[in-house]
Amino acid sequence: MLSNNPFTEEAIEIPSNNSEELLQNFNFQKENQKKWAKTPLKERLSYIEKFSEELNKREEELAKTLTKEMGKPFKESLNEIRGARSRIKFFLKNSEESLSPRDYSRPGLGEEIHFEPLGVIGNISAWNYPYLIGVNVFIPALICGNCVVYKPSEFTSLTGLEIQKIFNDIGLPPYAFQVAIGGKDVGELLLKLPLDGIFFTGSYKTGAFIHNQVSPKLIPVGLELGGKDPLYVTDDLDDISQVAEAACEGVFYNNGQSCCSVERIYVHEKVYKEFLEKFKKSVEGLKTGDPMVPETTQGPLTRKDHVSYLENQVQDALSKGAEVVFRGEVPKKTGYFFPPTILKNVNHKMEIMNEESFGPIIGIQCVSNDEEAIQLMNDTSYGLTSSVFAKDERRGRNILSQINSGTGYLNCCDRVSPYLPWSGRKNSGLGSTLSFLGIQTFCQPKAYHIKST
Ligand code: NAD
Repeated sequence: MLSNNPFTEEAIEIPSNNSEELLQNFNFQKENQKKWAKTPLKERLSYIEKFSEELNKREEELAKTLTKEMGKPFKESLNEIRGARSRIKFFLKNSEESLSPRDYSRPGLGEEIHFEPLGVIGNISAWNYPYLIGVNVFIPALICGNCVVYKPSEFTSLTGLEIQKIFNDIGLPPYAFQVAIGGKDVGELLLKLPLDGIFFTGSYKTGAFIHNQVSPKLIPVGLELGGKDPLYVTDDLDDISQVAEAACEGVFYNNGQSCCSVERIYVHEKVYKEFLEKFKKSVEGLKTGDPMVPETTQGPLTRKDHVSYLENQVQDALSKGAEVVFRGEVPKKTGYFFPPTILKNVNHKMEIMNEESFGPIIGIQCVSNDEEAIQLMNDTSYGLTSSVFAKDERRGRNILSQINSGTGYLNCCDRVSPYLPWSGRKNSGLGSTLSFLGIQTFCQPKAYHIKST
């Protein structure tokens, strides 16, 4: 399999796993999974702690690898690795309580819930935050006593191999964690194995395919999919510049390649003109270029074919009446660059307001009141996150309560907390990662009814 550096466009060959290797690894994991489940929780946690320490020690080299294979600015790669460590800290601190048996016994009758691991689970992952979204799954899954076969995206295979190397170096038993390298074909081979659960992060299209393929097996399936996340600016705010800056970060961080990137902006007509000016000013401050240069905020896109995908969304909007507010400059020599782009006069007949963009482009639509904003925010097949900026907390909460998404943000956007469940509604997913729910999701409950003779 060839993997391209999206900035230099140089290709390197990375060998994929074949079906015999995948089956052999799976059998090895299946034979030993009970041994891993019986390893005391404290010991399992200590492996995870060592893994986190190694992430810390190796962060520079890991961040360089990540930047080279997916084009994320180096400082954002470092941020991602540090963010992954703080999520691990959450799991280390909270797993024991989440996994401890619940006892509802009364005199003469024992009634208890115990949490048992699922077995050997598959984790098929995306490339945009390989550490963060990987850690959401394989860390709690291992803590719960599951063995994990982890398939990184074909765009971040080197990072997947680094993760395997760290686990090997800290002495994690080799049956506990195995990496599967390859693209779509390897993903499909994994679906054919008798896994005890599949946890997927990626596009709706692939997620729906996976759900269909594995449904006859009746195993747990977790799906963390895409979004078309809206942000609404109301008319009662004191400082529109701050809102514009937060929105700029929400749209353009990681080049818009985040599942919870802001993908649509609605602005109350009373502050529309001011917001547009200030938002444009914030976007003008972005620096597109070599992702290893410290000043760079926007590297290349990870996938070459996404350049034309985004251009098609822009052209579709322009052909239907949208207007360009801003288009940035991009380096000309090499790299899969796309200029940061703002469009106005957009509407829901345009792809830019309907289809996930997953890139540095945004449409801004003017609305006359909260009711219109709510109707438009809900007019989507996705339901990951929604954001409202309002000074009046009651008004903000009231709007958010009417939006059908797994996460609601008031006066912030594009953020994830390990304490809160990460769960998409509609085409954005199924199940939850993170929080206590994202620990228990890797277990099956067992009910004990204990009567004394
Ligand atoms: P993708 O669906 O193309 O690929 C994801 C993974 O699935 C890769 O490992 C790929 O090799 C594998 N795969 C592809 N086809 C397969 C098949 N037929 N059978 C089995 N496996 C298959 O997605 P992507 O481009 O890697 O990621 C971008 C998408 O992920 C975006 O839609 C984004 O919003 C979403 N995402 C969601 C979250 C979340 O938490 N909700 C987080 C990150 C990314």
